Amino acid sequence: RVVILRLGHRPERDKRITTHVGLTARALGAEGMLLASNDKGIKNAIEDVAERWGGKFYVENDVSWKGEIKKWKEQGGKVCHLSMYGINLPDATEEIKGCEKLMIVVGAEKVPSEIYDLADWNVAVGNQPHSEVAAVALTMDRIAQEEPLKKEFGDAELTIVPMECGKRVIDNKKRE
Ligand code: SAM
Repeated sequence: RVVILRLGHRPERDKRITTHVGLTARALGAEGMLLASNDKGIKNAIEDVAERWGGKFYVENDVSWKGEIKKWKEQGGKVCHLSMYGINLPDATEEIKGCEKLMIVVGAEKVPSEIYDLADWNVAVGNQPHSEVAAVALTMDRIAQEEPLKKEFGDAELTIVPMECGKRVIDNKKRE
């Protein structure tokens, strides 16, 4: 069970990247994303995709990041903060893999320094600067118990039929 906590989202410049963090997390099997900023457009955009493509992914808008971390830990959850300054992912994978209830925290601009103490792990996806989307994707792939790219999404309106060449999408609504 994985939840993403997105910090520092600036509505005027991070819309696309925050949407991609959510969509990537969903595609790789996260159950939802908590957005520690007020931008209902993100919730609408991601939940709209989830509605059409299946599964039960949710976005909670405008949460208190400290409150959510506290609640998560009280419920026995662990927190993995992704930061290029942390322990390199290959050195932390085995430990994190065993975690039943994981919150993955990603920033946009500089994150509050308290996060480093609150997190159970500060993990770098390689100690070089890159992107929160890539960091989420690689982490979720490496810590997954089952092949994340084979995940099935229930109650989908749209389903892709994979093929070597061409595009085929089944509209399940039309078949009803
Ligand atoms: N300049 C910001 C700072 O110094 O904290 C970071 C900006 S970075 C584009 C935004 C987010 O991407 C970070 O908060 C982190 O969650 C994630 N990120 C970027 N590179 C990373 C890496 N190598 N390992 C893990 N996370 C990374």
